[in-house]
Amino acid sequence: MSELSIIMYHYVRDLARSRFPDIKGLDLNLFKVQIQFLKAHFVPVTMEDVVRAFHDKTPLPQRALLLTFDDGYSDHFANVFPILREEKLQGSFFIPGKTFMEQKLLDVNKIHFTLASADIAILTAELLQRIDDFRQKGVLLPPAKELFDTYAHANRFDQKETIFFKRMLQTVLPKEIRKQLSSELFEKYVEMTEETFAGELYLNQKQISEMRDSGMHIGLHGYDHDWLGNLTRPELEADFSKAFDCMGDFIHQDCWTMCYPYSSYSQKVIRLLKSKGCKLAFTADVRRADTRTDNPFMIPRYDTNDFPPISTRFSEIEGRLI
Ligand SMILES: [Zn+2]
Repeated sequence: MSELSIIMYHYVRDLARSRFPDIKGLDLNLFKVQIQFLKAHFVPVTMEDVVRAFHDKTPLPQRALLLTFDDGYSDHFANVFPILREEKLQGSFFIPGKTFMEQKLLDVNKIHFTLASADIAILTAELLQRIDDFRQKGVLLPPAKELFDTYAHANRFDQKETIFFKRMLQTVLPKEIRKQLSSELFEKYVEMTEETFAGELYLNQKQISEMRDSGMHIGLHGYDHDWLGNLTRPELEADFSKAFDCMGDFIHQDCWTMCYPYSSYSQKVIRLLKSKGCKLAFTADVRRADTRTDNPFMIPRYDTNDFPPISTRFSEIEGRLI
């Protein structure tokens, strides 16, 4: 068989008892239930199986399944790893180098935890005010209404105001302004120092080593968790070489993989990965993968929310029922 379901996870935690119950993450109990569902209906495979299936055309079992975990969260060591080890499952963990090299937060996390700490109406009003402040200082930015009409579009996970907040701070505003606003809003609403927060949020090198030594697959996820598809060639090479340097001890040099932050990539990114010997690269396109027909550098993944007990969307996407 060449078909493969790949599931993507981010935060996995006991939400009710966590400091941020509103963070968009998967509750640990639901993760446990989901793992049992997946074991009953799918056949878990390893990243090595998937590399062979893409490159040597070796068959996968029917209903093959691969589990992937993005962003290098300490959740993955504390909550996910013990369950995978107990169930004899391999997880693939895509870790941005910055998370364990610096006591700093990725912008993506500043944005998530700001959103989990205040009402979206308050945050939207504050963001628009701050954008206006920059405009008053002479920064050329489109009018608020134009920005909102262009970027405030709900997706399957977030309402339109949340998407607007994310897009402004992820890609739309000039880079320096985005970084400044993400930091200032995090400081104001989350009320923890970035250093303390980063220490709690991310895996450390010892934990990553232990997971690797127990058979987990460790893959690249950039250094600064940037939108790689938007970077210039020098920026891309710089981010990539930093990621490769600090992840070198954790990956198999002759069988390493990549996951694109924000699912952002381009032919330029793919060419660079190929030239460095990358075997597979993962996106967040939502569908089942096929090792015969899919480009090994554009591999689609489902989200945990597409599977029971959260939803049965995966079966609707595939037009089949369990
Ligand atoms: Zn990510």
